[in-house]
Amino acid sequence: MAETGESVVHGSKARPQDLPSIDKLLRLTAVQPLLEAHGHTLVATQARVLLDSLRVQALSDNLQQSDIQNDALSAALALSIEERLTPRLRRVLNLTGTVIHTNLGRSVLPQAAIRHLTAMMEGPNNLEYDLIDGGRGDRDSIVEGLLCDITGAEAATVVNNNAAAVLLSIAALAGGREVVVSRGELVEIGGAFRMPDVMASAGAIMVEVGTTNRTHLADYERAITARTAILMKVHTSNYAVEGFTSSVPESQLAVLARERGVALVTDLGSGSLIDMGQLGLPQEPTPQQMLADGCGVVTFSGDKLLGGPQAGLIVGERDLITKIRKFPMKRALRLSKLPLAALEATLTLYLQPELLTRDLPTLRWLTRTPEQAAETANVLLAPMTAALAPRYTVAVQAMLSQIGSGSLPVDRLPSAGLVISPVLARKRGTGTALENLATALRSLPLPIIGRVADDSLLLDCRCLDDVTDVLAQLTTLRERLA
Ligand SMILES: *Cc1c(COP(=O)(O)O)cnc(C)c1O
Repeated sequence: MAETGESVVHGSKARPQDLPSIDKLLRLTAVQPLLEAHGHTLVATQARVLLDSLRVQALSDNLQQSDIQNDALSAALALSIEERLTPRLRRVLNLTGTVIHTNLGRSVLPQAAIRHLTAMMEGPNNLEYDLIDGGRGDRDSIVEGLLCDITGAEAATVVNNNAAAVLLSIAALAGGREVVVSRGELVEIGGAFRMPDVMASAGAIMVEVGTTNRTHLADYERAITARTAILMKVHTSNYAVEGFTSSVPESQLAVLARERGVALVTDLGSGSLIDMGQLGLPQEPTPQQMLADGCGVVTFSGDKLLGGPQAGLIVGERDLITKIRKFPMKRALRLSKLPLAALEATLTLYLQPELLTRDLPTLRWLTRTPEQAAETANVLLAPMTAALAPRYTVAVQAMLSQIGSGSLPVDRLPSAGLVISPVLARKRGTGTALENLATALRSLPLPIIGRVADDSLLLDCRCLDDVTDVLAQLTTLRERLA
């Protein structure tokens, strides 16, 4: 093998013309294992990237001869390849205290769903194939029975997410016709999902009734015409209207809808499939209750309180669901086989509701007591104190968690965790010290995400199942902060 080893003058600057050619770099002995492991294309690309950046450094007189010795070059190339191959999507530890965190991927799948998903993706499967008669099957049928059993619906269909479920339901049932909705429920869920825009995208004409704080049955009654297709209810998930308020419950609207021959569609947003009150959590309306109250169609998310994959679930009366399923837009919004497998396994857990607070991460974390969270925090206290001393103090403290994802916006859950505060002579510099710590935590191999509040960094231990995920990284944390 040819080597580029000219005489080494340590400490002296390297000039652009001292850099090896790509070919020369690729012929180095230490580069051969990289070529074998990754193939010529990637190694050559990264070699070019590396040499380009070294050339820029050399031109600004910032490159040492020692930086361009064979060992240094091959090590830099190996690092650059490793970085290029590191996925953008990374696992993180969510110690923010927000259980269903939209920015952190919402619900975490139960093990049963991960196993089923992996098993189904390892080969072909019967996604749209009937194993009994050997004919074409329907992917909806994989979860429809489960959804009907759990919610009491006559029929069910699934799409990519709940925003899609709402859009599709309105388009299929009310395209070109009118949808009556209360002004108190014209919500923006986040991003570009605003009810009025969804109605327009679905080709429906929105008819607003009532006021922001009060809407009455008579408001809906007066708005119904021959052009009306739907009475729409939207669960105000991410905000609360308090004080002098009134809205019309589904049970009353259902009677009116039936009398006047229009469909009652409810977008529940989160839609817990079990009684949250029984778990000691804030009450949420369930799809089963909405159907029992007379709703024709109920839509909800798969990855909020349900605790499964991203999906939009649509349950309701058979003729309405059939119309929705047959609408052409359904094909564009359909659920892929990956989340479908995860959804099936997650829904199967609901046939064993006693297992949910153990096996479904979302419900396990939501029902974790402050005492349990404090226990976890106490295990971390001494090692974390040692890792951060003397620049930060660490204490175990009570704190409040949030459910998140627009679920139950006003409720907070008592929790516990670590409170980390900078040790400073004066208050000045607190922000920088906290930012340094938060950055170091985010830079760990398994990034730790906390939240800053009251001049401290809080690590809420509600969602931490395994303390070793933190403990194993404390030496690295100490190094990163040094
Ligand atoms: C979250 C939410 C949606 C959107 O659901 P995604 O699954 O995020 O698409 C729609 N409506 C309401 C009321 C929601 O809370």
